[in-house]
Amino acid sequence: LQENSVIELGTPERAVVTTCAYCGVGCSFKAELNGDELVRMVPYKNGKANRGHSCVKGRFAYGYANHKDRILNPMIRDQITDPWREVSWTEAMEFTATRLRALQAKYGQKSIGVITSSRCTNEETYLVQKLARAVFGNNNTDTCARVCHSPTGYGLGQTFGTSAGTQDFDSVEHTDVVIVIGANPTDGHPVFASRLKKRMRKGAKLIVIDPRRIDLVKSAHIKAAHHLPLRPGTNVAVVTALSHVIVTEGLMDEAFIRDRCDWDEFQDYAAFVSDLRHSPEATALLTGVDANELRAAARLFATGGNGAIYYGLGVTEHSQGSTTVMAIANLAMLTGNIGRNGVGVNPLRGQNNVQGSCDMGSFPHELPGYRHVKFPEVRKIYEDAWGITIDPEPGLRIPNMLDAAVDGTFKGLYCQGEDILQSDPDTKHVAAGLAAMECVIVHDLFLNETANYAHVFLPGSSFLEKDGTFTNAERRINRVRKVMAPKNGYGDWEVTQLLANAMNGNWTYTHPSQIMDEIAATTPSFAGVNYDMLDAKGSVQWPCNDDNPDGTPLMHVDGFVRGKGRFIVTEYIATDEKTGPRFPLLLTTGRILSQYNVGAQTRRTDNVIWHDQDLLEIHPHDAEVRGVKDGDYIKLASRSGETTLRATITDRVSPGVVYTTFHHPDTQANVITTDFTDWATNCPEYKVTAVQVSPSNGP
Ligand code: SF4
Repeated sequence: LQENSVIELGTPERAVVTTCAYCGVGCSFKAELNGDELVRMVPYKNGKANRGHSCVKGRFAYGYANHKDRILNPMIRDQITDPWREVSWTEAMEFTATRLRALQAKYGQKSIGVITSSRCTNEETYLVQKLARAVFGNNNTDTCARVCHSPTGYGLGQTFGTSAGTQDFDSVEHTDVVIVIGANPTDGHPVFASRLKKRMRKGAKLIVIDPRRIDLVKSAHIKAAHHLPLRPGTNVAVVTALSHVIVTEGLMDEAFIRDRCDWDEFQDYAAFVSDLRHSPEATALLTGVDANELRAAARLFATGGNGAIYYGLGVTEHSQGSTTVMAIANLAMLTGNIGRNGVGVNPLRGQNNVQGSCDMGSFPHELPGYRHVKFPEVRKIYEDAWGITIDPEPGLRIPNMLDAAVDGTFKGLYCQGEDILQSDPDTKHVAAGLAAMECVIVHDLFLNETANYAHVFLPGSSFLEKDGTFTNAERRINRVRKVMAPKNGYGDWEVTQLLANAMNGNWTYTHPSQIMDEIAATTPSFAGVNYDMLDAKGSVQWPCNDDNPDGTPLMHVDGFVRGKGRFIVTEYIATDEKTGPRFPLLLTTGRILSQYNVGAQTRRTDNVIWHDQDLLEIHPHDAEVRGVKDGDYIKLASRSGETTLRATITDRVSPGVVYTTFHHPDTQANVITTDFTDWATNCPEYKVTAVQVSPSNGP
């Protein structure tokens, strides 16, 4: 079978190879059809990210594409209190363009902006940032990666020189000792978790750093060598303590550091981590992690052979998210674990195209390929290609857009594939920002929570209805192939083009392959990428260009992208979110296997039966002192707000820590979360909220 082919079969009649719509593993599937009916998704044996495997989400949770809730016609309304009115695409675009231009005339060119999603293809996100820069005339473009992996972009950019994981998934077959920190791969990245467990069964050792006793700590046939159940918010202290042990016991890889890293910066770093305030004993007081376990884990990682680090949103979604990413990079360089199979620093991306949406220039300070807008030579590439002038000033991030809206200076937003009212922190503030805008355009499959504040609704298309590419957590560019015609008549890239042209953009794309050709022509790391090549090879990992025509499975092999690797001092600073008598517990949040993110897709599939409500995990001791029994309703309150959900009593969480998911809008988990953010990127601190739990009679 050819990866690119439409395959003629007996029953089912044909199959199209495409890529999963969910997590950052990026599994390949054969979508099998009888006529126009999709009958099943079969994991594709030649898919290089999954090699014939899949999880319950990708295999069974595609039914949302045909769900009755889908909106198939554009709708407009003058005020958000008015009823929706179905209109033609032409009328919707004229209404939208007229409003946006009027806002710019009245409030200024920078009064409107865009938000795109990591659930959209590379081609779609590229066009959305181009809409802001080339048509709106500003850099007010951001992506939902702002609220998940933006600290990865900053931290790995500072230390290694590029904002991406260093390895391919195959690399795990060569690892001897693994740190999993702030991630729960069994639920979040199941196919990768299976490969990791397989490697553990062959003898690889595992260190889990997580407040919860996740499945990897101990489950059938596997047991982690060490579990460091830290207090939420203390990642930096724990990782720096690991480095303290390695440096003070002389376990670092000095040859690697001298050869590959900035030696002067290393000496400053070594002096910093050697201080006794970073000792396991001092760190135990801050973090709650046993000092002997900390010391043993550090020794194992430094001396156990090939060492790899995998991390997730439990690292990034903190006020020190970027600092933790840099602390992890320091640890990898300190032990010489960069640049070969079995080692590396690997962010596990939550959504299928987090890597791609960042690559495509969706951030307000960067053009595609992570190049800052302040550089004239970079702007010139796009000014020549697009025939416009690009503003050298970075635009607004999502939280800045909302702040500016409340202040009255930001008035219009095009939001593609993202439900910021449910997914972003401090729901009341998000609602206030949206309510203050005069033109909110929601482009989505469903009338989501954000659409309550929208003046225009543009129907979106599912992954089954589009051509394009997703880039997974290992930088692998996978083809997304159209399995069925768009139910609304247009692919998402075409809708963005309609809007651009309604505002005199004069765009003339007729197929997403032309958008990829433009990306390749203007972005060095994509220079060798085109659809014919992807169809022939199946997929490729960037950088893919004249220097790396077959792509790049492992990065930083002979040298770091930035030249010398950079050690950065990572001082632990406690979050401003404090527990106290009124709010004595710490809430952290996460995902479970059957559900995906805010649940907009998986809630509309049969998967919902496995998780029909969000539950609060609470330790038996904390439950008992509050008179809470398993299954009881409880009130969960923080300084920001309160909500009601049911409790599940478990020792997966430590005393003093509670945990919930955020898949169901009626839970309103983000009413609880704070407005504290990462110091470098404004990524929200979802993972630490001081709360109180008390019995309740129900919602
Ligand atoms: Fe693969 Fe992730 Fe999709 Fe599961 S959700 S099938 S692991 S890409």
